[in-house]
Amino acid sequence: MHVMHACYCRFCGVSLRATMVDLGMSPLANAYLTAEQLHQMEPFYPLRVYVCEHCWLVQLESFTAPESIFSDYAYFSSYSDSWLQHAKAYVAMAVERFNLNATSQIVEVASNDGYLLQYFVARGIPVLGIEPAENIAEAAEQRGIQTLVQFFGEGLAKQLVARGTQADLVVGNNVLAHVPELNDFVSGLRLLLKPHGVITMEFPHLLRLMVEKQFDTIYHEHFSYFSLHTVRAVFAAHSLTLFDVDELPTHGGSLLIYARHKEDTARAVHPRVTELLAREEAAGLQCVETYLTFAEEVKATKRRCLEFFLQAKQQGKTLAGYGAPAKGNTLLNYLGARNDFLDYTVDRSPHKQGHFLPGTHIPILHPDVITSTKPDYLVILPWNIQEEIRQQMAYIRDWGGQFVTLIPDVVVSG
Ligand SMILES: [Zn+2]
Repeated sequence: MHVMHACYCRFCGVSLRATMVDLGMSPLANAYLTAEQLHQMEPFYPLRVYVCEHCWLVQLESFTAPESIFSDYAYFSSYSDSWLQHAKAYVAMAVERFNLNATSQIVEVASNDGYLLQYFVARGIPVLGIEPAENIAEAAEQRGIQTLVQFFGEGLAKQLVARGTQADLVVGNNVLAHVPELNDFVSGLRLLLKPHGVITMEFPHLLRLMVEKQFDTIYHEHFSYFSLHTVRAVFAAHSLTLFDVDELPTHGGSLLIYARHKEDTARAVHPRVTELLAREEAAGLQCVETYLTFAEEVKATKRRCLEFFLQAKQQGKTLAGYGAPAKGNTLLNYLGARNDFLDYTVDRSPHKQGHFLPGTHIPILHPDVITSTKPDYLVILPWNIQEEIRQQMAYIRDWGGQFVTLIPDVVVSG
């Protein structure tokens, strides 16, 4: 018997028909392999993005339980200096703008290793972290940040309220896009929020993803891709009003949204909100054609990348990668580019060296290998930090080496 599989919008529930981009079958982008694992089966999952023609939520089809992705998540936020600076600046802003003090309660959802809450603790402001990955929550506890090892949703919010915990500020950085049960999550946010409290959430901005063709930032851990238009509708459905928004450079272009209870009208809606909504509409984010055009642009980018790889190999050039970010795995798997094109990639993280990229099985080596092998082309996979890499690796010019970036288009530069 043939069973039809239908997908439904995780916000509004209508059935999904329009494909924004189909990246084929891909392994989990953070599933780096050991040498032994190269001889075993490797799970691949569909990486297909739909857009809901009713609410315009861009989303992956559901395919696997989130526990298998997040329970032993290898990402420790504190490892990145620039991310710590970002967190510290956010805390200074929030404390001043919302008058937070020793009588306030901060709750961070997906609090990771306490990278952000530590700055509230340093100011004597009570905090509670919520983090589903046990090994990461332990790291937070060790630095004195009370952390619940749980997934956040309505159920947990009710438990917290029942024991007298409600928040003046609920923080969520790069969690909203990762939530499979979106309505349950936002409903939980509302329950947890004090009558005059504020919620802030940071996530990559769909507008930037589309304009800059950042399709490599699509991977299985990211279930949803938000415009301001759609996130505002999601919050409004749970009686929460967005009263401000900041556009940030993080992760290729992110939004920081500010929400309050609908009834808490003391905080007026800032003109920035209506201004950005208008810009999104002008960019066509409420027209299905815009998304179908994006799908074609992604295919054209693939052809140009492969054209570059084929030409380079036919000319007898050698190519190496720089970096082993999740986005590189989406890109290389979509291109089908293995060590037939890239001999290896390098990464500064000792946790990744000696491993292999998921799917493509390209080895991850120490950056020193570049000096000994002198590749003609160094393909920068984390394009968001390309300036930093160009400076660090400027010496490849000594042997005529050139830098290559592939997103949004192939650019070769000396
Ligand atoms: Zn929808």
